[in-house]
Amino acid sequence: MKGTRCIRKVDNLGRIVIPRDIRKALDIKEWDDLQISLEKNSIVINRCSNHCTFCNSKEDLSLFREKYVCRKCLSQLKNS
Ligand SMILES: [Zn+2]
Repeated sequence: MKGTRCIRKVDNLGRIVIPRDIRKALDIKEWDDLQISLEKNSIVINRCSNHCTFCNSKEDLSLFREKYVCRKCLSQLKNS
């Protein structure tokens, strides 16, 4: 799967389809959250882990430097 390349057209709403083989390889399922970021001139799409990096909580998450952090851990970070 490494080095897989394909060409997709962007539709009139700006959507693209992620090829099934790539979704399968990364275990991306319907309604999963994906994080889209711009790095230099490339669009990078990552799977969202959707849990706090520190305590694995799934509630009150915010993104901090590309990682999910829950509100509780975030306040502890600010106080440390
Ligand atoms: Zn946490």
